[in-house]
Amino acid sequence: MTTAIEETLVLVKPDGVARNLTGEILRRIEAKGYSLVDVRMVQADRDLLAQHYAEHEGKPFYEPLMEFMESGPVVAMRVAGNRVIEGFRVLAGATDPTTALPGTIRGDFGRDWGLKVQQNLVHGSDSVESAERELSLWFA
Ligand code: ADP
Ligand code: MG
Repeated sequence: MTTAIEETLVLVKPDGVARNLTGEILRRIEAKGYSLVDVRMVQADRDLLAQHYAEHEGKPFYEPLMEFMESGPVVAMRVAGNRVIEGFRVLAGATDPTTALPGTIRGDFGRDWGLKVQQNLVHGSDSVESAERELSLWFA
């Protein structure tokens, strides 16, 4: 396995902030050996979210997702580490909290209340290209 020091964008979504899970999420990131490089709390506006979620425009969950992400502050983190892009997505677990494995952030804390949007606590970039694009949006 080759070493690849990467940076990724982690967002603690509005449900995670409201439920006071920011510290628990950061604890798991640091326990894994990843480093917090930068952090800010943001009340995201439409424009930022539209750019962040451009790939999902037109999908059935897009509008509820945008409303959910606008519903309160999010904590944006720049996180660095060896293969952290894939590694954080393993820590986060599957997108759907119902099937996310125990031991993952979404599996342990995520809730699908049958609402229109899965409130799955965190976002993590899914590729080197996404990470660069997303980090430049949230840490402009
Ligand atoms: P991930 O966050 O795991 O990368 P996606 O990029 O596919 O997942 O989706 C972005 C976000 O949109 C998800 O984290 C979740 O909040 C929401 N989402 C995705 N798929 C659905 C769905 N089928 N129903 C409701 N919300 C969804
Ligand atoms: Mg995604």
